[in-house]
Amino acid sequence: MSNFLIENYLSLKKEIKEISEKCGRNKDEITLVAVSKNFPSEYIKSIYDVEQIDFGENKAQELIDKCKQLKDLNITWHFLGRIQTNKIKYIVPIAEYIHSVCRKKELDEIQKRVESIKKTQKIFLEVNVSGEESKAGLTPHQLKDFLEMATTYKNISVVGLMTMAPFTKDTNIIRNTFSTLREIKNDLIKSYPSIKELSMGMTNDYKIAIEEGATFLRIGTRIFGKRV
Ligand SMILES: *Cc1c(COP(=O)(O)O)cnc(C)c1O
Repeated sequence: MSNFLIENYLSLKKEIKEISEKCGRNKDEITLVAVSKNFPSEYIKSIYDVEQIDFGENKAQELIDKCKQLKDLNITWHFLGRIQTNKIKYIVPIAEYIHSVCRKKELDEIQKRVESIKKTQKIFLEVNVSGEESKAGLTPHQLKDFLEMATTYKNISVVGLMTMAPFTKDTNIIRNTFSTLREIKNDLIKSYPSIKELSMGMTNDYKIAIEEGATFLRIGTRIFGKRV
């Protein structure tokens, strides 16, 4: 069952290494988050056994279930995608990183829930670089004030910025989205030194994301196959 997964996974790792080298980056500064949503725990286990540690989920219940099923493994969990505020209490005890924060009520609820378990929650702020109406995230214009507010929460650490590129074959648009996020980050880091990371790049665009400075790739289909 898991042979194709291991093949996909190892060839992806090799590609990431090659692309990194080609553009003068060190592959070790790039964390691959294997996005396992919709796939069973056995899939996670099979590439965990090869060497994969970081896994991403986008539904609280699925995260809870898989965390329980895989409790003996030393997995670093990432939460991606839309956050239902009433599910944050389930997410924060499990997720090392939350990639998609963009509303004040999410910060309030995260703070409330992590405080009681004496944890500092690492988060990314999601930025809607392309300005598509269908996309969540802060506009680049809103970002600075939101970030300033986010840094006042005692148990929340903003580690970086996250974006999703538009769904298009036009690689110029994709590249422009990623390079814009990098420029925004490079500007903000002068005042907020903790904003080091760039979470960008999925199955269709991770090569461009690496070239444009991604430090966290979120990749599902390329490893696990098409989600049904
Ligand atoms: C599903 C998902 C991914 C992975 O997408 P693939 O195209 O399967 O690689 C990455 N990021 C987010 C936020 C997602 O929801």
